[in-house]
Amino acid sequence: MDKKLLKGGEFLVKESSYEDVFIPEEFSEEQNMMAQTTRDFVKTQILPNIDKLDNHDTALLKKLIKDAGELGLLGISVPEEYEGFGQKTVTSMKVAEEMGAGFSFVVAYLAHTGIGTLPILYYGNEAQKKKYLPKLASGEYIGAYCLTEPGAGSDANSGKSKAVLSDDGTYYTLNGVKMWITNGGIADIHIVYAKINDDKNLSAFIVESSWDGITLGAEEEKMGIRGSSTVQIYYENVKVPAENLLGERNEGFKIALNILNLGRIKLGGGTAGAAKAVVNSAVNYANERKQFDTPIAQFGAIKHKLAEMAIRIFAGESLTYRVTQNVDDAIDAYIAEGTEKGKAALEGLRQYAVEASITKVFGSELLDFVVDEGVQIYGGMGYSAETDVERAYRDSRINRIFEGTNEINRMVMVGELLKRGFKGEIDLLSPAKAVGEELMGIPDFGDMTQDYFELKKAALKNFKKAILMVSGAALQKYQEKLQDEQELLFAAADMLILTYAAESFMLRVEKLEHLRGADKADLYKAMLDVYVYDAAAKIKKLGDDAIHSFAEGNEKMGMLMGMKRFTKVDGVNVVKLRRSIADKIIEENKYPF
Ligand SMILES: Cc1cc2nc3c(=O)[nH]c(=O)nc-3n(C[C@H](O)[C@H](O)[C@H](O)COP(=O)(O)OP(=O)(O)OC[C@H]3O[C@@H](n4cnc5c(N)ncnc54)[C@H](O)[C@@H]3O)c2cc1C
Repeated sequence: MDKKLLKGGEFLVKESSYEDVFIPEEFSEEQNMMAQTTRDFVKTQILPNIDKLDNHDTALLKKLIKDAGELGLLGISVPEEYEGFGQKTVTSMKVAEEMGAGFSFVVAYLAHTGIGTLPILYYGNEAQKKKYLPKLASGEYIGAYCLTEPGAGSDANSGKSKAVLSDDGTYYTLNGVKMWITNGGIADIHIVYAKINDDKNLSAFIVESSWDGITLGAEEEKMGIRGSSTVQIYYENVKVPAENLLGERNEGFKIALNILNLGRIKLGGGTAGAAKAVVNSAVNYANERKQFDTPIAQFGAIKHKLAEMAIRIFAGESLTYRVTQNVDDAIDAYIAEGTEKGKAALEGLRQYAVEASITKVFGSELLDFVVDEGVQIYGGMGYSAETDVERAYRDSRINRIFEGTNEINRMVMVGELLKRGFKGEIDLLSPAKAVGEELMGIPDFGDMTQDYFELKKAALKNFKKAILMVSGAALQKYQEKLQDEQELLFAAADMLILTYAAESFMLRVEKLEHLRGADKADLYKAMLDVYVYDAAAKIKKLGDDAIHSFAEGNEKMGMLMGMKRFTKVDGVNVVKLRRSIADKIIEENKYPF
C-alpha cells in the first residue's frame, strides 16, 4: 500500500495513519546488525577510553574516529560511488542513537558524518565529491563545520569572515576567525562560511587544514563533552583555490541552514541513545542501593522518576524515527520525479524543517530531564565525578545550545509554519476558520466512541484546534508584529511540540498493537495515557497564558472556554500507571521498551 506522505508542518491540520509512520521496532536484520556493531564499538572502544578522551587526548580521538571508519560507521550516508554504503537516513539514525551512549564521542561523530561531510555530498560538484568524500567516509580525513564567529552566533549570517577573489579569478584570499568549532583541533577539512568581497550573504568553501595561514586556538575548557575537540580557528590570508567554492556564490547561508536541518534531526537519535544509557545506569543503581532497608527502586518517588524518564524517551524516539522516515520517503519521491539525488536529499530535509526543529528541542530537553533525574536517583553519588551520570549530566547541557539554540529553533518552527501557510503550501486558514465556527456553535461530541485509539485521536485533533485557535487569534491581533511577541511564539511552539510528540507516540503504540497484538500493548498504552493526559494539561496552561496576554472581553471568555473544551481528556490514574511502567523497568533492570 502506498504511504500517504504529509508535507512538512502539515501534521497540524491533517491526521496520519499508523500505517504511514515508521517505528523503531521495524528495523531489518541488517539495520539491527549495524546497530549491534555500533553498540560493541561504543562498549569496547569508547567507554574504556572516555576518561582519556575527556582529558583532551585528541590523538586518541582521531584514532577512534578512524576506527569507526574502518567499521564502516562513517560512510553510512555516503553513496557507494564515493566509497560509502549509501544507506537511508533512518539507518544512520539508528547508528546515531547507539553512538549516543558514547558520551562526547557522539558529538565528534555526528559533526564529522553530518555537518562536516554532508555539505560536500549535497552541494559539491563531481570533482569535489570524488576528491573528498571517499576520504571522509573512511576516516582518512576528518571534517568540521565552521560557521560561528565571536560576533556571529545565532545571527550566523552576520559573520565578518571574508574571501576576496583574485584578479585572475583563480583563488580567494580568506580572512576571519571561527569559534566553537567541533573537531576543529583534529580536522583535515573545514567547511568555512565567509562572504565574498562585499556580498550580503555567505558563501561556503572547502578548506584544507594543512594550507598556509591557518592557526588553531587551544582546546576550550568546557562544562561537558570534554572528549570532543572544540577550538577557535584563525584564517589569515589563506589561499583557497577557486574550485573549492562549494555550491553557488551567496548560497552559503542556505547550505549552512539546510545541513543544520539534518543535524537537528540526528540530535533526536543521539539524545535518545544517551538517555537510555542513563536509565540503565540509574535503575541498576536504584535496584542495588538500599536505604531504610529497602532498595530505593521500591520507593514511589523513584518509580515516578524512572517511569517519566522512559515515557519521555519513548516519545522522543517515536517522533525522531517518524520524521526521519518522512525525510527518506520525501527524498525517494523527489528522485522518482526526476530530481538529482543530492538536490532531492536537500529538498527532503528542507520539507521537514518544522519537524527537525521540534526533534532538536524535544531531544535536548528530554535528555536534560533524564540526566537530571539520573543524578537525583544516585543521590550524593550522582554528584561524584566517579559516576557516569555526573558526566552525562554535564555532557547533556550543550544540546540546547548548538545546532541553533532551542530559542532559535522554537522561533524557526512557528515562523516556518506561518510562512508555509502564507505561501499557500499548507492550508492553515480553512482549518483555523473551521475552529472559529466550531467555537460559536454547539459542541459536537462526535459519536461518543469508546475505542481506545479513536479517543486518543479525538484528543489530538482537539489539541490541534487549540493551537489553531490561539495562534490564529494572535496573528489577527498582531499581524506581522507577531514576530516581536516571542512569548506567544514560544507558547505556540511548545503546544506544537507536545502535540507532535503525543501524535507520534500514539501512532507508534497503535502500530505496535497491530504488529504484536493487543495483549502485548498494555504498558505502551499506560505510557501513552500518561503522556497525553500530561500534554493536555500543559497545552491548556500554555494556551490560557497566551489568551490572557492578548485577548479581552467576550473574545477572551470564548477562547478560554475553547481551551477548556479542546484540552479535555479523560482522567487517568497516573500514579498506578507510572508504577506499572517503573515496575517493568525495575524488573528488567534496564530500559525495556
Ligand atoms: C561545545 C560547542 C560546540 C559547537 N560546535 C560548533 C561547530 O562545530 N560549528 C559551528 O559553526 N558552531 C558551533 N558551535 C556554536 C553554536 O552553534 C553557537 O554557540 C550557538 O549557535 C549560539 O550562538 P552564541 O553562542 O553566539 O549565542 P548567542 O547567539 O549570543 O545567544 C545567547 C542567548 O540569546 C538567545 N538569543 C539569540 N538571539 C535571539 C533572538 N533573536 N531571540 C531570542 N533569543 C535569542 C540565544 O537563544 C541564547 O540563549 C558550538 C558551540 C559550543 C558551545
